[in-house]
Amino acid sequence: MKAELAQQHSLLDLAGLDAELSRLAHRATHLPEQQRYQELENQQRAVADRIAVLALGLEDLDAQVAKLESEVDAVRKREDRDRGLLDSGSISDSKQLEELQHELGTLERRQASLEDSLLDVMERREELATEQAGEQAALDAVDADLASARQARDVALAEVEQARTDTTARRTELAAGVDAELFALYERQRTASGIGAGRLMGGRCGACRIELDRGELARITAAPADEVLRCGECGAILLRLTDS
Ligand SMILES: [Zn+2]
Repeated sequence: MKAELAQQHSLLDLAGLDAELSRLAHRATHLPEQQRYQELENQQRAVADRIAVLALGLEDLDAQVAKLESEVDAVRKREDRDRGLLDSGSISDSKQLEELQHELGTLERRQASLEDSLLDVMERREELATEQAGEQAALDAVDADLASARQARDVALAEVEQARTDTTARRTELAAGVDAELFALYERQRTASGIGAGRLMGGRCGACRIELDRGELARITAAPADEVLRCGECGAILLRLTDS
């Protein structure tokens, strides 16, 4: 196949645009702004999970407080009743009096023990509530960071998309000027190996970067300038062009 030098130059420009499109495609899926956004999303989920666990803990402690309070209340009522009986002087039997006093003593100890437990639970509840408030503040901060990270991500993505649109338009324009057969060869090669054409530089193929052997180089040098050559290693269209 033959191709005028101008056509070969167009092919080189096309390869440049395709390389740029590959870079942009990679950039779109590896945006640091997207990574930052995902990190914050993970943080948000972790904090929200901790808050949910703390809320369950608080619910449990609230139930314990309610139970202990009702127990304290019941013991107190029983004490009041016993004390009322003692004070009324209605019981004269000494054995009955002794039993009543014994029960009152037991109730007082029970009440003291319940109140200690209640205090412990309430202290624990206070700790959890403080912890929860801290986590809530952390969540609010992450939410704010996440909102600005989302915005930064969207801006970066829009920039990449704009560049892709522009580059694709330039490519379409350029491709329209390339000989159909040459373009088809370029596209086949690009589909096969990722790079359609490369410039021969310093004895290396610009597509695969492999150094060509002396025999190959001699064959290439001897070929007419408009001869379409392929790299023996990667198959890319090998362009012998000087900057002009
Ligand atoms: Zn090659």
